[in-house]
Amino acid sequence: MPELPEVETIVRELRETAIGKKFWGLEGRVKSTFIPSFDVVKDQLLGLRILNVTRRGKFIVFELDRHMRLVIHLRMSGRLLWKKLYRKESHVRAVFVFSDATALYFCDARKFGRIWLAHKDEIDALTGMDRLGVEPLQDLDEDLFMKMLRGKRGILKNTLLRQDMIAGIGNIYADESCFRSGLHPQSRLEALRKEDKERLFEAIVHCLKEGIQHCGVSMTDFIGTRGELGKHQDYLKIYGRKDDPCYTCGTTIEKMVVAGRGTFVCPQCQKLRK
Ligand SMILES: [Zn+2]
Repeated sequence: MPELPEVETIVRELRETAIGKKFWGLEGRVKSTFIPSFDVVKDQLLGLRILNVTRRGKFIVFELDRHMRLVIHLRMSGRLLWKKLYRKESHVRAVFVFSDATALYFCDARKFGRIWLAHKDEIDALTGMDRLGVEPLQDLDEDLFMKMLRGKRGILKNTLLRQDMIAGIGNIYADESCFRSGLHPQSRLEALRKEDKERLFEAIVHCLKEGIQHCGVSMTDFIGTRGELGKHQDYLKIYGRKDDPCYTCGTTIEKMVVAGRGTFVCPQCQKLRK
């Protein structure tokens, strides 16, 4: 599933390629993708121009004229691809056609991806963006992070994955952040020391920024809008490295289930606080 760095990569590409384009046509091959409905989205979208493209958590937000917002969530396997570079992509769910005869394809093997259109005053409630927590690279600093964790109980990894706490972290960057901070993902929040939390804050910011710098992780589904792969899979320290030696200590990396997700841990480097 694309996480903050992968979605940010897409948003940055769209900011270069999509701003100024006017929606001229919309084809919907899976109608359930569209909210409130395909007919409403098509009726209101055509003729609108893209003024900016931004991101909130893992949501892609197109700011349009007349204060409208088109929002896309890629969920498990969604992709956005420009047509001229579109080769044999299957699972096409929607096609956005622009007045300059370019087209953006929304492809999604598992069909969980969603496309919403609404006025800016209504879009947050419609999409659930109103329930998102802080943006880790924009609104989060160490003081706020400490405040957010104060009095909180529970398993560390579960908390990192909560979109209503910090928006945009998913399985890969949760594991990488735990490893970098030297904390076992099953650690209890209430058992973390002040220095653990300081390291954790630094690790989250570092891991997300590094992911963006390398244009995201392409291990399963993620590719950019121009069809290119991210490079961050080559830089991961723990995720996906089961049975490989830890880069820091040489211990064999283990895989276990935490927060219902496949989780990678170095039993030597990552301390379990409980
Ligand atoms: Zn280690």
